[in-house]
Amino acid sequence: MVKRISQKDLIVEYFINHPNKEVPHPEVVDWAVSEWHKRTGEVFRDPDRAIRSLAQQGFLIKVKKGVYMYDPEHVEHRDLEDFTPAQKREILERGGYRCAVCGKGIEDGVELHIDHIRPKDLGGKATIENGQVLCAKHNFIKKNTGQTTTGKKLFVNLYEQAKAAGDDELMNFCASILEVFEKFNMNGHIVWKK
Ligand SMILES: [Zn+2]
Repeated sequence: MVKRISQKDLIVEYFINHPNKEVPHPEVVDWAVSEWHKRTGEVFRDPDRAIRSLAQQGFLIKVKKGVYMYDPEHVEHRDLEDFTPAQKREILERGGYRCAVCGKGIEDGVELHIDHIRPKDLGGKATIENGQVLCAKHNFIKKNTGQTTTGKKLFVNLYEQAKAAGDDELMNFCASILEVFEKFNMNGHIVWKK
């Protein structure tokens, strides 16, 4: 049995065979529709959508309205797990253009970054669900450590400070939170000395 290709694969095939060429929309659509029919006997219903989605994923460069280009260099050097400009916009909108930790926005003088909630190093994908807005400072704090790691370290440090300052109330507060970490077995590698 012949392995069935997807409609998107067909569009990809066309662009790979025409690298670095500014391809007007009708050219690839006409080819894909007729080629799809030839190969499968079926009608290619929405080639526009496949092209738009490839551009969104960063596989195609939108040169101008209705003109797309495939640049192998561009695709090769793009990290597939980086957010595309379109994804970044959506994540910013969903996050209300504010840091998910401190709630500050551009009007508060902070620079906003789009962060992978689950880091790329740990297999985090460039999906809208895996994105969040962080200010430069909190992005720096979080960096490639997981969210809970950062949280636990914060409370361990705060606990130590409270202990040193003899602030029982703050100590109890931190201890209560750290007990929750223990209860759920979160980040056991971060040691908390009671
Ligand atoms: Zn922040």
